[in-house]
Amino acid sequence: MSINRIGLKLGAAVIVLMIVILVSSGLAVDRLFTNFYDAQMKDNTQEIAAHFATMAESNDTSSQSMIRAFAKFSDVKVFWLNDEGRILTLPGEKQPNLSFIRSRDTRRLLSGHSVAFQNHDVHGNRFYVVGKPIQIGKTTGSAIYIVSSMKKIDDSLQRLRNLLVLSGLGAFFLALGMILIMSKLLSRPLLRMQQMTDKMAKGNWDTRLQVGSRDEIGMLGHSINDLAASLQRYRDTRRAFFSNISHELRTPVTYLQGYAKVLTDGLVDSDKEKKQYLSIIYQESVRLEHLINDLFDLSKMEEGQIKLNMEWMDLKITIKTTVQKVKLKAESKRLSLQLDLQDQVPLIRGDRKRMEQVLLNLLENAIRYTEKGSVLVRLTGKKEATVLSVSDTGIGIPKEELPYIFERFYRVEKSRAREYGGTGLGLSIVKKYVEMQDGTVRVDSQMGVGTTFTLIFTHEKKQRRDGMK
Ligand code: ADP
Repeated sequence: MSINRIGLKLGAAVIVLMIVILVSSGLAVDRLFTNFYDAQMKDNTQEIAAHFATMAESNDTSSQSMIRAFAKFSDVKVFWLNDEGRILTLPGEKQPNLSFIRSRDTRRLLSGHSVAFQNHDVHGNRFYVVGKPIQIGKTTGSAIYIVSSMKKIDDSLQRLRNLLVLSGLGAFFLALGMILIMSKLLSRPLLRMQQMTDKMAKGNWDTRLQVGSRDEIGMLGHSINDLAASLQRYRDTRRAFFSNISHELRTPVTYLQGYAKVLTDGLVDSDKEKKQYLSIIYQESVRLEHLINDLFDLSKMEEGQIKLNMEWMDLKITIKTTVQKVKLKAESKRLSLQLDLQDQVPLIRGDRKRMEQVLLNLLENAIRYTEKGSVLVRLTGKKEATVLSVSDTGIGIPKEELPYIFERFYRVEKSRAREYGGTGLGLSIVKKYVEMQDGTVRVDSQMGVGTTFTLIFTHEKKQRRDGMK
């Protein structure tokens, strides 16, 4: 067992606390009872002594026998001290142990003063002594000693102490057991979490913790499970991305090599064929450039190196220039490219170049994933926001895939990716750039009907005041 274990530390702290509390409360209870019993007993003895002295002073002949009877009944011993300072014993009574007689007390008693003190014999038995002068008329002729044994009290106190020690030990062992159970309950899930995170550190992100509680430990367990799940997804998409990337890179490079070799070896029959091969080389190099640009942008984003050049800009101009760039692509697929731009649209703050790239990515996707129909770019300026949307009548995106399409490297289906090309990076770049320009992006799609991407740029107060065109 390592000394650092939480259970051990907690247990040690609780046990120390328990010992301090038990010992101090035990001592307090013991003191309380001892004082209480002692005071009770001393008061009683004082009372009896006063009573006996009064009886003795009455000069009644029967007083001695009454006192003796009372003494027996009250469980005290009575001794008479005569005017010479000697203890009188009755005929037939054996001489008692008179170790409690002190000459200074005798003097005090015979001069009319009471004495009272506590003492103990050689065996440690405590007793309480009260001496009272007996005054006949105005003179003190003798005195009376009442000796009360404290054995019964001491026995009761001893029983009480035993009981206290026993219940203290019981409470201590109960607490010890509880601490052991608690520390096990507390440290077991933590140990499991530690083992799990160790596994995660070694790259095993498939295991999950069984979380049973809803407390802080349970919440930590859930967080670790979430972390493992997102790391797992990150690894899976990364793997898919690398295999896609190598495939995507290899395909154009193979084409480039193959057609360039055919051309350099002069294996072409006609100029038409030569032109066709050169066109393929051109298209593949464009594809390659696109891929490299995406990767470059992405790596810059990962490092947080992209700085935006924010300025007041008119989205209408951006739309027109970008649409111009994809016009040929749309025409080659016989898609109609439509614009629906509202006249008065507030300027927004953004980076022209990045905004163009956002729109280009959306338009290229719309054209790539649409076989027939149209692609529509719509711009509306409302009081609170400027809204730009790109809609197509393409294949659509399955509902369950929608939450993931903005993730880096994510592609809806592998087969789709092979068929249409693309890197799985376009939309993640779109989302990142839009958010960096204080906008939001959302998607609505229906399989076989089409997809609409909507960018919303809300106007702040200042923007609304300064930016109206
Ligand atoms: P890619 O480069 O593969 O297009 P994106 O990040 O741009 O990567 O898009 C992610 C995935 O979303 C794509 O693989 C594609 O399946 C899907 N997608 C994006 N735009 C559309 C669209 N307009 N219509 C249908 N599917 C789309």
